Amino acid sequence: MPGWRTKTMACLITSSLFLGAAAEAAKPRPRDQVPAKYKWKVEDLYKSRKEWEKDLARLKRQVKQLEKCKGQLGRGVKRLAGCLDQGFDMLRRMYRLYGYASRIYDQDARQKEGQELKSIIKKVATDTDAAMSFIEPEILRIPEARLRKWMKSRLLADYRQYLDNIIRRRKHILPEPQERILAKAGQLSSVPSDTYRVLTTVNMPYPEIKLSTGEQVKLTPAMYTRYRAVDNRADRLLVFQEFWKAHKAFRESLASLLAGQVNKDHFFADVRKYREDLEAALDENNVPTSIYLNMIKQVRAARPVLWRYLRLRAKMLGIKDLGYHDLYASIVPAVKMDVPYESARGILTSALAPLGDEYVKVLGHAFDQGWVDVYPTEGKRSGAYSDGSAYDVHPYILLNYNDDYESLSTLAHEFGHAMHSWLANKNQPFPMADYPIFVAEVASTTNENLLRIELLKKEQDKNRRMFLLGQHLENFRTTVFRQALFAEFELEIHRLAQKGVPLTADKLDELYLKLLREYYGEAEGVIKIDPLYAVEWAYIPHFYYNFYMFQYTTSFIAATSIAEKIASGDTRARDAYLGMLKAGGSKYPVQLLKMAGVDMTKSEPYSIAFEAMKKSIDELEKLAGR
Ligand SMILES: [Zn+2]
Repeated sequence: MPGWRTKTMACLITSSLFLGAAAEAAKPRPRDQVPAKYKWKVEDLYKSRKEWEKDLARLKRQVKQLEKCKGQLGRGVKRLAGCLDQGFDMLRRMYRLYGYASRIYDQDARQKEGQELKSIIKKVATDTDAAMSFIEPEILRIPEARLRKWMKSRLLADYRQYLDNIIRRRKHILPEPQERILAKAGQLSSVPSDTYRVLTTVNMPYPEIKLSTGEQVKLTPAMYTRYRAVDNRADRLLVFQEFWKAHKAFRESLASLLAGQVNKDHFFADVRKYREDLEAALDENNVPTSIYLNMIKQVRAARPVLWRYLRLRAKMLGIKDLGYHDLYASIVPAVKMDVPYESARGILTSALAPLGDEYVKVLGHAFDQGWVDVYPTEGKRSGAYSDGSAYDVHPYILLNYNDDYESLSTLAHEFGHAMHSWLANKNQPFPMADYPIFVAEVASTTNENLLRIELLKKEQDKNRRMFLLGQHLENFRTTVFRQALFAEFELEIHRLAQKGVPLTADKLDELYLKLLREYYGEAEGVIKIDPLYAVEWAYIPHFYYNFYMFQYTTSFIAATSIAEKIASGDTRARDAYLGMLKAGGSKYPVQLLKMAGVDMTKSEPYSIAFEAMKKSIDELEKLAGR
């Protein structure tokens, strides 16, 4: 089945990237002190735990019944359709049950009820997955010509995309005995990433430093992301030096783990008869490698725009010799934007108005009808997410709303996901509703862009304008350029390994430093990079995700280009974009983006996005008086 559990993960990673260090959080209140209109309505999923358990029993019966379908799928179109109906209905029920358990658990993890529900549903979800695991292999045994003929039947109409996706990957599936060996090998293959996580979160002796303020800080990764942005330059330098020295001390072990990961990716790509590791990784979502390669090419070509921003950054910081440790310091005065939840509603409604009446109408529902759990309360899960997997109910949004700009922007982001789910669920049959990860962050980031455009349209205060522009430019630096650098590094190390070059610490350092210098413009005199920072590769957990990161960049570019067009009043672009949201997962990712008028194999979306970046630099230059 399509990876339903991975979607929230993708979103969480992205939001932490977008938001960076969290602002001072509001103090959580007891849940019963929050008025009902600021809490989500769990009862829309099930009226009570009793109802939930009744439905759970039904699911368990279905799991048993599905066994009767084993060995039957090739018997004819009717039988196949009947069994798929059963399987997908089971899944649909399971999502809803899972949603209820998650809401109860996430709103207060200290309560026994949530813990119980969660552990029950986790077990049942595993059983559901296991019960369905025979389906794909059995479908694969049906001769392709016969299956294609069956697919013309009305009975299989809802499964067109699902079946096509199975057929598409057929040539990379091995005979059963070999698949069994691969499945067993799969159990060993998480050792590099597991060990990396343990080493970097539990065992690494992170250094203690003393800042000029007298403050004593233990530089864990979380503290590093916080203190790398401090205003005092000597402190920043100290943070960088000590943090990277700590990684350098372990670089041979860290290199060996990363090499293990790359070899693992290559092993699976190779035995599944892919030409290269990149192709294997992207084939999972049917994304052509040209999208990846074009992304690197376009972002590289746009480096002069980044350099312009970095030169402005140096000037605003008042330094002549910009270093890598100066990239996170704030260049604009800190502003506190006070945005209570009630005014967030008004701001978002006008920011998203260019998306049309229907969109705005549903937005109103979302605010009024219990989609959102707004405020931090005791025991509640941190961060933010949207979960639209309960097909027959509305999406749910978890926030920890803190009355500031970050919260507003997070709300816009999560509404993007929620509206995408809502429109897809309303317009597609269940088997085709779930949208692919590759397009998921487009909906959220388009909303963030529309919000920024709206705020800049109205904001008169100079400091606040500078703040918004600074945020925009930092998003470009971290989500476009930094991620493209990572994507290029990831591609290179896989290519080296494929050629048989050992991935030693020296080799990784050499390659990483070369990319840092090229991306940030050392030869152009923009920056000077201390060779110590070459070891930054050892700090990026995403290199263990098998070519995942490029999607941050492609989503950001696609979303920026869509938002720019829509905000300029282009109603054709708007309708095309809404068409994409409504299409859910009924097409492959690249076709979906093309529906929205974005061709990621071309330069157009990139040039529109980098124009927007240039505009922000122009204005910030003016406001800063440079
Ligand atoms: Zn997201």
